[in-house]
Amino acid sequence: TDSCASLFRVVLIGEDGVGKSALAGIFTGAQDSMDSDCDLSGEDTYEQTLTVDGECATIILLDTWDTQDRGSWSQEQCMQVGDAYLIVYSITDRSSFERASELRIQLRRARQMEDIPIILVGNKSDLVRCREVSVAEGRACAVVFDCKFIETSAAVQHNVREMFEGIVRQVRLRRDSK
Ligand code: GDP
Ligand code: MG
Repeated sequence: TDSCASLFRVVLIGEDGVGKSALAGIFTGAQDSMDSDCDLSGEDTYEQTLTVDGECATIILLDTWDTQDRGSWSQEQCMQVGDAYLIVYSITDRSSFERASELRIQLRRARQMEDIPIILVGNKSDLVRCREVSVAEGRACAVVFDCKFIETSAAVQHNVREMFEGIVRQVRLRRDSK
């Protein structure tokens, strides 16, 4: 609501087709649709207030990574403007997993002096028979890159809320340790 003072920008990045927009869509519908605070502030920018651990947080979610229109954030800008990042790959697509590693490195370069909250997200966990990246590999990658890890399915809405709660907690941990 309006009285929620905690507000931060979360950016979805990752290869085309991994499910970023599907995850963003669930985010906007996450609270009961009619009375929610969900707000289409820009074409690929969504705002939602959620309560995590008894405390409110407003997330402004950017899903502009694949959209290279005029008037939209460029990928370079995306690397600069986020308070937190969801680096998404598809568990059915190994190249998207490799791309996620590259993006982590790029992000680290772009924001060298900052300890930015990041979750590595293995989406499409419902497609068990098409799996190309194991849970163990995802987890190991997150350890190397010093970030959190979660597997989600936008299709069956598994762990999506947990992912957004997780990013809120990561932001708070850093805020509280300052
Ligand atoms: P983006 O390019 O990263 O924004 O990916 P999209 O959200 O457009 O999704 C690409 C395709 O993957 C679409 O056909 C989605 O329906 C599908 N998709 C997204 N998430 C999932 C998921 O969790 N499971 C399955 N089975 N399909 C998904
Ligand atoms: Mg998209």
